[in-house]
Amino acid sequence: YGEVPERSKGADCKSVGSAFEGPNPSLSIIKLMSKYSESVLNQIKNKLSIVDVVSSYMKLDRKNGRYWGLCPFHSEKTPSFTVVENNGGFFKCFGCGKGGSMFDFVMELEHVSFIESVQILAKRAGITLVEQTPEENEKAKKRKTISELYNKIQNSFHSLLLNNVKAKHARDYLNNRKITESTIEKFVLGFAPDDSTWLYNFLTKHGYSDKLLKESGLFSLHYDKLPLFRNRIMFPIRNWQGDCIAFGGRNLISDKNVKYINTPDTIIYNKKDNLFGIYESLEYIKKYEEIIICEGNFDVLSFHQAGLKNAVAPLGTALTQEQVNLIKRYCKKVTVIFDSDNAGQNALIKALLLLQKNNIDNHVVTFTNCKDASEVLQKYGEEELLKQVKNSNHGFNYLVHLALKRYDIREPKGITSVFKEVKPYLDNTSSELERQHYISYLSETLKVTEEQLLHEYLKDDNGIEKKDFNNKKNFTSIIYKPGVELNALLYLIRHHVQFNTFKKEIKINMLSDKNALTLYSTLENASRADVNDESLIINMIDDSELKQLVLTAITMNMYQDEDHVFLNNAINEIKLKNLESDRKRILSLISSFSNSLSDFSELRDLLSAKDDLDSEIEKIKKNNYI
Ligand code: ATP
Ligand code: MN
Repeated sequence: YGEVPERSKGADCKSVGSAFEGPNPSLSIIKLMSKYSESVLNQIKNKLSIVDVVSSYMKLDRKNGRYWGLCPFHSEKTPSFTVVENNGGFFKCFGCGKGGSMFDFVMELEHVSFIESVQILAKRAGITLVEQTPEENEKAKKRKTISELYNKIQNSFHSLLLNNVKAKHARDYLNNRKITESTIEKFVLGFAPDDSTWLYNFLTKHGYSDKLLKESGLFSLHYDKLPLFRNRIMFPIRNWQGDCIAFGGRNLISDKNVKYINTPDTIIYNKKDNLFGIYESLEYIKKYEEIIICEGNFDVLSFHQAGLKNAVAPLGTALTQEQVNLIKRYCKKVTVIFDSDNAGQNALIKALLLLQKNNIDNHVVTFTNCKDASEVLQKYGEEELLKQVKNSNHGFNYLVHLALKRYDIREPKGITSVFKEVKPYLDNTSSELERQHYISYLSETLKVTEEQLLHEYLKDDNGIEKKDFNNKKNFTSIIYKPGVELNALLYLIRHHVQFNTFKKEIKINMLSDKNALTLYSTLENASRADVNDESLIINMIDDSELKQLVLTAITMNMYQDEDHVFLNNAINEIKLKNLESDRKRILSLISSFSNSLSDFSELRDLLSAKDDLDSEIEKIKKNNYI
């Protein structure tokens, strides 16, 4: 192959024994050699810095001459993903093992082939690629032409909206809905004139062929020369890189006319892959790692205007897995804010389940006296919108309360129905600790034991209890529950001032639950370092799954109230457990002695130790408030 191209750097490293393994490089090299020349790759590499490339997808911090960040390929809370600029530039995650060149990085994150990653990076570097086969060349040229066309049309629509006398009613309309000029600028909103001939004439004059215009998605499917958008407010739909790839057009007269017309799928646009507002939100999403998903284009505008600059909307469809893949790159927490009508609420449930399946922390905001964000903005203003969004609910909490409104849990059937409603969410929860948490919450809320819930969980959809435990994984995970130790420590994380009292009574060697032990030593460390802030303490928890559990407990308002009785009982219970196991040990020693009768004094000591234990156990039992 002559000089080793970029892709095989990974292979070199591997042979040296380091863990730099990307996808199988040999296949890519063959494809690469047949498609783009090696020099193209070197040109791209020379023009781009891998740090810039990676940073455009995620947050990197410089530390000890390297760049570090949270790995975008697996879930983690402390950075083990690093980027190094020398040796042609490579990335490596010490957590999941993924690593490679900037091309590998783009492949993995964009879920694209190697060739496509080269295309993306070449574009970024301003290098024109020449395709190998005539058909491919043709297709690439077409994509480029249509893409450029969309960006130009976007600007034409925009300046029409701002300046044209015939767009006054459009400006008034936006003004009426409290959309400001800076929002119009930011989203490059436009106006498509009420004219059936201008667009075709305008574009053919500029040299676009009939064939291309037919495929562009800008014209009616039935009449090639009739613009698809007439007398509409135009919303450019931009991909995450900022290219306009489609439009949504809202009508201005609320009559029989369809409210929205959207560009159909074209050679450059597929609606299931895109989100309205992703480009405009990207900076904020990366910064805060949180995103708001709302229903309508106008809601996106409203949120941004109120300062919530991380709002996006699926393009009039249910939230898709592809869209979730796109947001998963940037954030772990999503707040879903859908319309309060029936359709909106049904879509909301589906969205929550999908997000939970993707292990994304999901929250819900519902507006009580308005249909959507746009209405809140129009009627009550930005402040009120901000205020209402602060009031969010955990996704599971929301589903439970939705079901509680529908069914009466004083009836046995009611409890079953509520459980049935929320079961899909439990099924979509991959962390066992997290699922257990929901079960405890449910048991508390429905006032039934966790065992009864387990029975329900094991029933199939027809209500028949499964005899064969095919579902063994779920079975074992669901009966695991935080015991008294973990419960006590979870409580103490939220009420760490009481940890000192606890510590006097319970030494760390009296605990046997692994998670309780971790939290105990976290609290000890915090108290030693004089850390008193709850969120800082939580950040000191080493185990990421446990940390997640604690965070979930907090968002669900568990262990919130100060409860000395609870803590006292927990202390007693842990003590009792320890005393009883000591007693058992002594009893077995005593019985082994009674056979030999060799050393009386030792036996005497054991018997008196047993007496002490007995009286202490007695004392604690009396003292217990239960
Ligand atoms: P408004 O606030 O003016 O009612 P909206 O942007 O909130 O408008 P919704 O009616 O809530 O719009 O619909 C949500 C989204 O669904 C729209 O923003 C649009 O992308 C899409 N949509 C709505 N109606 C249609 C339609 N008839 N065809 C295609 N897409 C539509
Ligand atoms: Mn709406």
